[in-house]
Amino acid sequence: MLTPRSGLETLKPYSVEEINWPVRLDANERPLDLPPAVKAKVAERLASLPFNRYPEISAQSLKTTIGADFGLKAANVLIGNGSSEVLEALCYAFGGAGRSIVYPSPSFSMYGIYAKLADSQPVPVELNRDYTLDADKLLAAAKQAAASVILLCNPNNPTGMIMPPEQVEYIVANTGSLVVIDEAYHEFYGQTSVHLLQKHPHVAVARTFSKAYGLAAARVGYLLANEEVTQTIGKVLLPYSVNALTLATAETVFGMRREFAGSIAENSRERDRMTAALSGLPGMTVYPSQTNFLLVKSNDAAGLVARLSARGIGVRDFSKSPGLINCIRLGIGTPAENDAVLEAVNS
Ligand SMILES: *Cc1c(COP(=O)(O)O)cnc(C)c1O
Repeated sequence: MLTPRSGLETLKPYSVEEINWPVRLDANERPLDLPPAVKAKVAERLASLPFNRYPEISAQSLKTTIGADFGLKAANVLIGNGSSEVLEALCYAFGGAGRSIVYPSPSFSMYGIYAKLADSQPVPVELNRDYTLDADKLLAAAKQAAASVILLCNPNNPTGMIMPPEQVEYIVANTGSLVVIDEAYHEFYGQTSVHLLQKHPHVAVARTFSKAYGLAAARVGYLLANEEVTQTIGKVLLPYSVNALTLATAETVFGMRREFAGSIAENSRERDRMTAALSGLPGMTVYPSQTNFLLVKSNDAAGLVARLSARGIGVRDFSKSPGLINCIRLGIGTPAENDAVLEAVNS
């Protein structure tokens, strides 16, 4: 009989319902494909790319371009197949057997999985009932577990809520653990903790192209950190891990990111419109979001999901998840898609 590595028996394969919803509001993606001018430029880049050649060994040009935008060096940047890959690699590099990884809960469900894959002890710290974070409680848990890594998601998925920048800085200033701030939804929020990198060597910030920049298909994200941190994580990332098509696509999109400003602003206006429209409904609570999705608590979550799916609208049902009872996560779509949601909810 085959015997997998010990510890894997506690992991379930990642599974999300793979349904081809006509209206996909279940994965926090950009509701539309790339702006046409950007897509044309990407196609042009790909047409002249030599498919027979390996990519640049360490994605140097994309690292240089991204680093320069933050006033950092290429050596401060790591590129991955989605920020997922760099976050996982970070857990491998700074976790390991006998170590602990602390993160608030509920948050991104992958954090606990990365910790287990790295053979580390996952230490979820419950958020307050209103989904705000008690920073002292988190710090106490990190201290007690002698955590090597603290993972913070800001704004937080799936609650949509933010940790104020002062709170992030307070955590960083009061721990020696490596503090990772996952800013997957930064573009919908505007604030960042990147400046903490200047003063604190134990900070890393993760960003992705999958959400605001509409590149979920390409799988690309990055991590900004001190050179010692990026070098260490670099040891566990495979050479050539990000393919040349993705690198060229990401470089083009990064260079043209101003083309996305209008749609990001529209998404945020739509989010505020949906928050206002849904908050007024009986039995419904909408949490304040600074992302491209809303966490909605309903005393008839099952009925709500059923009314939405009857109209071909897919959402993420968390209503049976610990800490998220009766909650669904609703992506913000195009104005027409959002109108369809309101129509379904009010039916
Ligand atoms: C979507 C998401 C990511 C990253 O996704 P990638 O596609 O792997 O870049 C990371 N963290 C959070 C919280 C997310 O919601």
